[in-house]
Amino acid sequence: MPAKILVSACLMGHAVRYDGQSKPLLHPAIDRWRAEGRLVTICPEMSAGMPVPRPPAEIAAGAVGSDVLAGRAKVLEINGRDVTEGFVRAAENALSLAQEADCRFALLIDGSPSCGSGFVYDGSFSGARHSGEGVTAALLAGNGIEVYSDREIEQLVARVEALDQS
Ligand code: SF4
Repeated sequence: MPAKILVSACLMGHAVRYDGQSKPLLHPAIDRWRAEGRLVTICPEMSAGMPVPRPPAEIAAGAVGSDVLAGRAKVLEINGRDVTEGFVRAAENALSLAQEADCRFALLIDGSPSCGSGFVYDGSFSGARHSGEGVTAALLAGNGIEVYSDREIEQLVARVEALDQS
C-alpha cells in the first residue's frame, strides 16, 4: 500500500490559519499524492475547536513543543490567554488521525506553534524565532512519524520514492 502522508490543512489551500488565510504549497508531488489518495488532511487547531480567525499564539518563553507536552511550558495567545490545553488536544487529534490512517509521514507548515518542525516563534510576539518544533510536530515525531516541513518537500519526495521502490 502506498505510504500515507498527514498534511497541514493550510498547506492544502484551506483558509484555516489564525489570520483566516491559507498558505498553499504548489508542487507537482502534492497533485500526484492527492490523486494517489495518499494525503490525509487536518488542521490540528481547528480539530480542537479553535475558531477562524483566532488570536495569534506562541509557545511561551522560548520553549518548544516537547516542553509543552511534558508540562514544562505553555502556549499563550497574544492577549495572554493560556491555550495550552487546546494545543495539546490538537496534537492528540492529529496523532490519532495519523495512526488511524496509517500515516508514515507528515508534511507540516513551518513556524506554527502546532505544525512547525524546523522553527517556532519565541513567545515574545516580536517575530523572533528559534529552532524547534511545535506541539503537534513534537507529538507526531515522538510517535515514530517522520515529520517534514513545507521547506523540505524535496526531501520528502525522495524519501517517498525510495520507499515505493523498496
Ligand atoms: Fe495550518 Fe497547522 Fe495552524 Fe492548522 S494548526 S492553521 S494546519 S499551521
